[in-house]
Amino acid sequence: MTSSHSAPLVDLRSDTVTRPTRAVRAAMLEAEVGDDVYGEDPSVAALEARVLELFGGPGSRLGTALFVPTGVMANHIGLRMTAGPGEEVVCEADAHIVAHEDANLAWHGGIQTRTTLTERGQLSAEQLRRLIRTPGPYVVGTKVVALENTHNRAGGTVYSLEQLREIRALADERGVSVHIDGARLWNAHVATGIPLAEFGQIADTLSVCLSKGLGAPVGSVVLMPADKREEAKVMRHRLGGGWRQAGLLAAAGTYVVDHHIERLAEDHANAALLADRLREQGIRVSAPETNIVMIEVEDTAKTVAGCRERNILISAAGPGVLRAVTHLDVSEKDVLEAAATIADYA
Ligand SMILES: *Cc1c(COP(=O)(O)O)cnc(C)c1O
Repeated sequence: MTSSHSAPLVDLRSDTVTRPTRAVRAAMLEAEVGDDVYGEDPSVAALEARVLELFGGPGSRLGTALFVPTGVMANHIGLRMTAGPGEEVVCEADAHIVAHEDANLAWHGGIQTRTTLTERGQLSAEQLRRLIRTPGPYVVGTKVVALENTHNRAGGTVYSLEQLREIRALADERGVSVHIDGARLWNAHVATGIPLAEFGQIADTLSVCLSKGLGAPVGSVVLMPADKREEAKVMRHRLGGGWRQAGLLAAAGTYVVDHHIERLAEDHANAALLADRLREQGIRVSAPETNIVMIEVEDTAKTVAGCRERNILISAAGPGVLRAVTHLDVSEKDVLEAAATIADYA
């Protein structure tokens, strides 16, 4: 990145850009490791047990947790534990699983996705009631309803517990599974106060990212019923995700799960501050529910380039819309500077 200014970089493109803190690196350095393909890595086992416990443990619908390299792989494995070739996943039209996962359900799994566009990225039980189809000799049957919480492209929006419970009740009534793409479920938990264990009562399969706002360098976890573990491990290996001394990464994951969840509230406060400051300057912005702010500008390329000149990185989310994401490496001061800079080029 070349710039005539020496201002430190403020990177609002995504919360994936966080770099491991000293404490995270120290945890990695100390990690005990073994070969995880042989099931012998104690740090991986510890992370999986810890995450499973957070989501309610054996008393929930989720009986096992598997550490995987990415959120894309976590969603893929989770969904394929329920849906197979010629079957269907229903999700929102701007969901990450259909927008950003390279059609992997169709490519690897022969699975059809059926979508509906919504205002806030949230599916309601009422909409789903019309979408879910029961399989028959000439009817493609819905196997899974996939929910994204928080919803990335809709700007970090959250489901209410009431909505989730209605969807769960409908899923039981219609005999379909619920998958939660919870890449940012930690943010939803902090923003709403819904205990993580509640999500373990809603979802049959669930993915979480350790490498977004939590700040681990790499890794996601997929949770599912205990009897699916062996099948999921084979699928992970088939996808090229069988890893060896993965405990180095798992140790980072355990550290951030233990130390970085509650601090997400700071990111949410910073997102709200960014939105307020931009609004004060007459710029149209979303009302952030978590750590994502959607910003309307006339010429996104101009604003992105102007900000870049001044060491503020921000991305275009679509025509006339920018997306700013707050995270571990963005301070209140950074946000104030970003707001002033964005306003200069809006
Ligand atoms: C980032 C993200 C993923 C995928 O995570 P990767 O680790 O980048 O593969 C899945 N779902 C949502 C909603 C995301 O934001």
